[in-house]
Amino acid sequence: MAGLMEGKRGLIMGLANDKSIAWGIAKACADAGAEIALTYQGDAFKKRVEPLAAQLGSTVLADCDVSDEASLDAAFAKVEEAWGGIDFYVHAIGFSDKSELRGRYVDTSRENFRNSMDISVYSFTSCVKRAEALMTTGGSCLTLTYYGAEKVMPHYNVMGVAKAALEASVRYLADDLGRKDIRVNAISAGPIKTLAASGIGDFRYILKWNELNSPLRRNVTQADVGKSALYLLSDLGSGVTGEIHHVDCGYHAIGMKAVDAPDI
Ligand code: NAD
Repeated sequence: MAGLMEGKRGLIMGLANDKSIAWGIAKACADAGAEIALTYQGDAFKKRVEPLAAQLGSTVLADCDVSDEASLDAAFAKVEEAWGGIDFYVHAIGFSDKSELRGRYVDTSRENFRNSMDISVYSFTSCVKRAEALMTTGGSCLTLTYYGAEKVMPHYNVMGVAKAALEASVRYLADDLGRKDIRVNAISAGPIKTLAASGIGDFRYILKWNELNSPLRRNVTQADVGKSALYLLSDLGSGVTGEIHHVDCGYHAIGMKAVDAPDI
């Protein structure tokens, strides 16, 4: 895919470490020739993200807390100052208090509901609005969602509700920005062991279940998601917008596995 993203510049938010889905996407885009700007959330992540940025040759790096408008303004201003404009934007951010990512959804607190919706849903809208201003010749925006938006998944709770709202946002944003040739899509990734995922109750069981029950009989990797992101962020996805694209080894297609399946 070398050359596919030559001359393209993009901002990727949500890199915590080399296990992050954002890292799979950043590497795929950089390998295809893109220049990448990155944000990290506070000093605790800075020391992990700086060496990764150096690996990609990224020189535009900003601290950003997406729950804070001033922090968002400063991060996007830094990108504008460095490049003037961008061609793609990636939002790989989600948050919920992990004490509520177990037990019953009905017990979700108002405070955590608000916080989860603000950081995991509204921040995408707020960032896409800022990205729009930098995409003067069209562009592509991408966020990350999960099957728990469509069906009940154990312990996903308020994040499932947030992801459903995020997926609806993708469709509304796609319609708002389509006239400017800005596309807005989401990847619904299968479970991957990352920092955020480790906060979800019984996550190892979820991983094993997906591995055994997906048509491809394995879990997805950051690299799988990176390759699909490349399609949606590059000109290969030029006719695709408002789409929730499953990158989950086919898990979403299965209603029930046959009892005579050879490996159960
Ligand atoms: P991760 O922990 O590597 O990334 C989550 C990121 O969100 C971190 O970089 C964190 O700093 C950032 N973040 C949280 N609150 C923030 C805030 N207030 N301001 C700025 N950044 C903030 O985990 P990940 O699994 O790579 O998560 C990336 C995205 O992928 C999330 O939206 C997640 O819900 C989604 N996703 C993950 C999986 C999975 O199984 N790992 C599956 C489907 C979708």
